Amino acid sequence: MSTLIFGHQSPDTDAITSAIDFAEYKKQSGDSDVEAVALGELNDETKFALDFFKVPAPRVIKTAANETQHVILVDHNEAQQSVADRDKVTVDAVIDHHRLANFETAAPLFIRMEPIGSCNSVIYKMYKEQGFKITPTTAGLMASGLISDTLLLKSPTTTDEDKQIFAELQKLADVDLKEYGLKMLKAGTNLAAKSDKELIDADAKSFEMSGSNVRIAQINTVDLNDIYDRQDAILAAMQEEKDADNYDLFLVFATDILNSNSVGYALGATDKVEAAFGKKFDANKRLDLAGVVSRKKQVVPPLTEEFAK
Ligand code: ZN
Ligand code: ZN
Repeated sequence: MSTLIFGHQSPDTDAITSAIDFAEYKKQSGDSDVEAVALGELNDETKFALDFFKVPAPRVIKTAANETQHVILVDHNEAQQSVADRDKVTVDAVIDHHRLANFETAAPLFIRMEPIGSCNSVIYKMYKEQGFKITPTTAGLMASGLISDTLLLKSPTTTDEDKQIFAELQKLADVDLKEYGLKMLKAGTNLAAKSDKELIDADAKSFEMSGSNVRIAQINTVDLNDIYDRQDAILAAMQEEKDADNYDLFLVFATDILNSNSVGYALGATDKVEAAFGKKFDANKRLDLAGVVSRKKQVVPPLTEEFAK
């Protein structure tokens, strides 16, 4: 009955490495009965990172209560992004860097949340505060989460503290983190190998906004033409999922990670999207989102505000 540690569904690199790094933190705290697990298959970027540092992939779970009573959430807190039966287990701790929403517990718990670039940045600070050892592998994993979430420190979610942490991790890691980071990000943009459904599922999150069921997916690419070329098929896959899961709004935005621009597609409450960004979808059904790279900082807040009206 180990305590299970996991990040959000449709896990990204920060979710997976945060779980692994926080399991190691618990072990150094003297609590070795913990296991990092995942709430979904790893994406290509995360696979690249774990392969690079020769770290085994965490086991994927669908439910928790069948094997434990205790869980720790990293890189998320919202119920609809967590394990399906979260209400049947005790959440011992939350380590996160997102908005706090849809979260209540029966028992007291440990919470550490900071508005910084990655969950790994928070965990790094906790290691430092305790004087725990950070091996080159752990430093590499921490940097992977930070690089992934901040697109190599370029996203507006990047704080000065993240830049400082990146510099400190560089001293602990035994690879050039900038060079490695670009390779890792590119490994995550192999769009040709993915089906349309895989593209819109890989990095998707659900949000409850004033009673509306909102789904927001992000696709990273190094060339937006790869998205334009299959736009009709992507929109068809979106429509299918929207109907199946009853989303009031399904927004997919594709981000050019080299130029820090995005283009959005939406089904459902498109009027909310247009109002949130003060722009109209063009004749090609695209919404120009110049300079937008962060779902958390640049997409969720204006939409949440718009749905609250
Ligand atoms: Zn994440
Ligand atoms: Zn994160």
